[in-house]
Amino acid sequence: MTDEDEFRAAMLARFPVLLAHLAERPRAMSPSIALDGFKRMGPGWRPLLLRLLARLEELRLAMPEPERGVVRVVQVKEKLGELRVYVDDGSVAMYEETKTACVESTQICEECGAPGERRALERWLHTTCDAHIPEPRRR
Ligand SMILES: [Zn+2]
Repeated sequence: MTDEDEFRAAMLARFPVLLAHLAERPRAMSPSIALDGFKRMGPGWRPLLLRLLARLEELRLAMPEPERGVVRVVQVKEKLGELRVYVDDGSVAMYEETKTACVESTQICEECGAPGERRALERWLHTTCDAHIPEPRRR
């Protein structure tokens, strides 16, 4: 099991309802990589994601049934140097928490979790510390 698989398994075990959509799709059968979550997000953002999921879970448990039972995180990924988390059937408070965490990710190195900044490199945006600036690819 890779480090990434372990993290994924730990998250699915800790938040079985919130992440049911991701759990329902075994990795090999994912219709798209994005649905698999976690895979397209660097390890440096894991503590941030964990905090966000814990907060979303708190908010979910405070909701009445049946709303509480249908909230799902449907995607977790990196896009344009930013953590993106998509929640279906969430509340306004969940949306606000998610937005805050995603903005916060633009100041955290996606590789190591140290303070970082968003940089443009070869048409892509990456959020890294000085030590993890990606090498420009040679042509
Ligand atoms: Zn770094």
